[in-house]
Amino acid sequence: MKAITILGSTGSIGTQTLDIVTDNPDKFRVVGLAAGSNVALLAKQIDKFQPEIVALGNEKKLAQLKEAIAFLPNKPQILVGQEGICEVARYGDAQSVVTGIVGCAGLLPTIAAIEAGKDIALANKETLIAGAPVVLPLVKKHQVKLLPADSEHSAIFQCLQGIPEGGLRRIILTASGGSFRDLPIEKLASVTVKDALKHPNWSMGQKITIDSATLMNKGLEVIEAHYLFDVDYDRIDIVIHPQSIIHSLIEVQDTSVLAQLGWADMRLPLLYALSWPERIFTEWEQLDLVKAGDLTFREPDHKKYPCMQLAYAAGRAGGLMPAVLNAANEQAVALFLSEKIDFLNIPRLIEQVCDRFGTQNTAQPNLDDILAADRWARQAILDAQIAIA
Ligand code: NAD
Ligand code: MG
Repeated sequence: MKAITILGSTGSIGTQTLDIVTDNPDKFRVVGLAAGSNVALLAKQIDKFQPEIVALGNEKKLAQLKEAIAFLPNKPQILVGQEGICEVARYGDAQSVVTGIVGCAGLLPTIAAIEAGKDIALANKETLIAGAPVVLPLVKKHQVKLLPADSEHSAIFQCLQGIPEGGLRRIILTASGGSFRDLPIEKLASVTVKDALKHPNWSMGQKITIDSATLMNKGLEVIEAHYLFDVDYDRIDIVIHPQSIIHSLIEVQDTSVLAQLGWADMRLPLLYALSWPERIFTEWEQLDLVKAGDLTFREPDHKKYPCMQLAYAAGRAGGLMPAVLNAANEQAVALFLSEKIDFLNIPRLIEQVCDRFGTQNTAQPNLDDILAADRWARQAILDAQIAIA
């Protein structure tokens, strides 16, 4: 029986992780839950999974949560705010913490979990992208495991099992192509938020769905792969694979290529991040290659989707630049979601802000530097937005 804590329990990653717990009550037990503000769902989760500790990000909803669980005989300890979420992350005998909070808001809780000796099932890629210069040394110091739950990185990690050190030559990340993959470039200027939120293959939270539509998600995943697998940017490629059956591939030194396949279902990478190195039997639909049909591949279009190149450039610049890119993207996506900017202004604003940051970069930033760069980039996006409005 493995004790786990889930941060972002009411989101797409959080609820799918809890589905795994429901299906495997003899294998997983929930110690802690943390969520932003969906009190109704959090109350149901408390009732069903009986965690020992819970944190609610939005303090204003505390009374509502208490009322919603007043009838329960065994109530968990309830904390609020960012510090409450960090406390949940470090609490008790949880062996593994699933990071399903979206955005850089997940950084401090992830650090808290690592410092408490918890293994990390990493869904929250923004945390690693912004915080790697601090997170990676802490992972080493506290000897915890950083296990990828992002489907591409799980695929790479699965392919790497049994590959000796130095055997990896190249990483090939697959990308579905997002909501606009079949739309001509001229039409991108007038797409709506509703259009962008219609992902062809995956049902996910809003922010990552927009990132998939701009292909920034793939750019962020390039940086994520660089940090997770310690591979240079020249050896990480992207290929568009519209069917999302091959979740990524690795090439080894002798040119042999290994891939991981499966239906587009996040439960699989989440389960592996929790069960590694074990393989747990599931009743999930088995992959049928004939039913999956043709698997096709094409080159990514960098003219249509400049975000990939912005991410490669930020990754290569290193230091604080990935944190700046990430925060600029978070802020630009938030503006797009609230219909304050057009779709094509997402990459434009990010590029301006990364350019502006340029010479302020530091090679070896500490946590304060990262948090300051994150705040700076968000404000810089707001300033740049006013300039283009
Ligand atoms: P989501 O929007 O569905 O859920 C986000 C969760 O985080 C919710 O529980 C929300 O309450 C909580 N949250 C948001 N802001 C918070 C804050 N400031 N403080 C505390 N809690 C907060 O997002 P998601 O799609 O589940 O994505 C979560 C993370 O996983 C993202 O980093 C995303 O990139 C990554 N990811 C998701 C998928 C997927 O299939 N959904 C796949 C790969 C990676
Ligand atoms: Mg992914």
